[in-house]
Amino acid sequence: MNPSERFDIILVGAGIVGSSVAMALAEHGLKVLAIDIDLSGRLSSSEKNAGGVRATWWQPVNIALCRASIEYYVRVRAEVSFRQKGYLWLYDEKTWQAALDHIDLQRNLGHPIETLRPAELTRRVPELDKLDGIAGATFSPDDGLINPNLLKEHYRHRAIRSGAQFLDRVYVMAIHSAASGAHLECWQSDRPLSDEGLGRIMTQDGPGEAETGRTFELTANAIAITSGAWAPAVFRSLGLANYTEPIRRQICLVDNRATNLSRYGMIVDTSGVYFHNEGPHILAGYSPPDTPPGYHFNYDGESFFQNEIWPRLFARMNVMERLRHVTGWAGLYEVSPDRSAIVGRAAPGVYEAHSFSGRGVMQSWAIGQALAELIANGKYGALDATALSRERFVCGEQVWEELHI
Ligand SMILES: Cc1cc2nc3c(=O)[nH]c(=O)nc-3n(C[C@H](O)[C@H](O)[C@H](O)COP(=O)(O)OP(=O)(O)OC[C@H]3O[C@@H](n4cnc5c(N)ncnc54)[C@H](O)[C@@H]3O)c2cc1C
Repeated sequence: MNPSERFDIILVGAGIVGSSVAMALAEHGLKVLAIDIDLSGRLSSSEKNAGGVRATWWQPVNIALCRASIEYYVRVRAEVSFRQKGYLWLYDEKTWQAALDHIDLQRNLGHPIETLRPAELTRRVPELDKLDGIAGATFSPDDGLINPNLLKEHYRHRAIRSGAQFLDRVYVMAIHSAASGAHLECWQSDRPLSDEGLGRIMTQDGPGEAETGRTFELTANAIAITSGAWAPAVFRSLGLANYTEPIRRQICLVDNRATNLSRYGMIVDTSGVYFHNEGPHILAGYSPPDTPPGYHFNYDGESFFQNEIWPRLFARMNVMERLRHVTGWAGLYEVSPDRSAIVGRAAPGVYEAHSFSGRGVMQSWAIGQALAELIANGKYGALDATALSRERFVCGEQVWEELHI
């Protein structure tokens, strides 16, 4: 990398969102550099998620962005392993009416969705044989499961083909944005980062004394903050308001010889546990509502499975009686105050796409397309993310979503 080289735009963070934005910008003909401290994504949310894709949201902008992304994932389904097997969502008395209230909106925006009575559930999914507490369910057949890693690689491959560059092992420590452009103070590790070294950098706001490397500066006409859960540090450096916080989420893989759920897509239980078939296993997640914010990556292991996952799965299905915990992990949700992403122009020459609040994979294609139009042409095109601008927190026009899973 020649430090005197000037880019049209530098992206800080190259997870699934940064990679999609890089692809779309490069395909607009811009000179793009995407920087990441770890392109392999060992701590990035894009490597830790459940691969769920759905458009059953409450806000038109979220439905439209997911819907457009789904249409793209269908076109490249073999390459990104998109399995359009639907989302089956079980509701209790407290939540059923709210689900029903949003169905017309979802259908009107082109997203098919059925409502099911409890008795119909067992016909559709015979494994669901304990129906206590279910008031109703929805099934949205266009939704499904994707391989996020393949999707990210797909974006990167197309981005590189159109001239985008990706820079690995580089941490952006500070950014100075001026009328003349953006100057980024960067640090590059002089050797491959160990898990411990990466963990220190990503939980302590950058490299400390234990890490060795070199510093250098890069310049661009504009920057885009696609740093996921680490966007707060970038905003501190820029002196811009931060609205996002990182929250730990855990997932585990379990072995279940008694059944094979590969016919189904994602199933979300009234208890909040969500699960789907994952190769020879079942992937299951649950997010305790009182999880405190912070950069925590510790996985609770067997106790997470025993206390949070197994009781909920067995309470719903007898075939879940003999489950074995295989492995699991923790990653970060990047949660905004209204649980919708923050996307658009943050300041002159500063763009942003982060805080997806559990929606980053499923919206990634549409966000890349929308933001690239805004950056390249000064206004949104067919995909309009205006409602997700940070200004909504100042003028009180929040885009409220239930966090769900
Ligand atoms: C357990 C769990 C389950 C989830 N399930 C789903 C799901 O089913 N469907 C769905 O759509 N979403 C889901 N999500 C959310 C989804 O994973 C995220 O919204 C999405 O991955 C965000 O992508 P991103 O590119 O914005 O962030 P990330 O993937 O976190 O990428 C940000 C990148 O920026 C880099 N970075 C940050 N700061 C700097 C810096 N200063 N210098 C250099 N590099 C930097 C990081 O290294 C990282 O690679 C889930 C998340 C979790 C944790």
